[in-house]
Amino acid sequence: MAIIAIDGPAGAGKSSVSREVARRLGFSYLDTGAMYRCAALAAHRKGVDLDDVDGLALLLDGLSIEFKGGRVLLNGEDVSEAIRTPEMDKMASAISSMKVVRKRLTALQREIGRSGDIVAEGRDMGTVVFPDADLKIFLTASPEARARRRWKQLQDAGREASLENIIAEIEKRDRADSSRAIAPLRRAADAVLVDSTVLSKEETVAAIVELARERIPVI
Ligand code: C5P
Repeated sequence: MAIIAIDGPAGAGKSSVSREVARRLGFSYLDTGAMYRCAALAAHRKGVDLDDVDGLALLLDGLSIEFKGGRVLLNGEDVSEAIRTPEMDKMASAISSMKVVRKRLTALQREIGRSGDIVAEGRDMGTVVFPDADLKIFLTASPEARARRRWKQLQDAGREASLENIIAEIEKRDRADSSRAIAPLRRAADAVLVDSTVLSKEETVAAIVELARERIPVI
């Protein structure tokens, strides 16, 4: 069983790169950001305050998150689009600073990690969830490059947004993710730094696949 951990800030291209790396290697892809987003959406719908520890614990107990055919199911409902709104960007970041939430989602992620070869993508895969991962990547890019990607994603989804606002939001979210007390976003000491500012998606994927083939002899 092999684990490739890919961490990095918002908009560095982690999701599309991780998905493609997984596809080429025949691994499963685990989008842990989607799990925090599901928790945020569930709290929002049930009206649970993000600082209500008992309420969140109860909410998470009854939560089922599944990945099926590239879609994200929350208690059986396809929420793939509903979790990717600017509001959920903020709420996921806020809920992810709660210990009770991290503890439960970390346990769930480790359980999934035991089920087979995976590419796990998030903020704390290499530092906290899978410290013994076979390969750790810290994927980053300049704030401008990351904001431009987000902007394009929103445009493609038919949503209007200003680039300046997106840069400001991304920097704010990075600050919050990097400065929180538990499992902050940071590069693990043994993670390979990949800067995608000037790399295409294809070049980024190829670099990671090559590293994986060097490090994980069976693939
Ligand atoms: O990667 P994505 O933008 O979907 O993640 C949404 C939010 O979930 C992040 O801003 C971060 O606060 C949180 N997150 C986290 N730990 C992870 C994955 C995501 O705290 N492993």
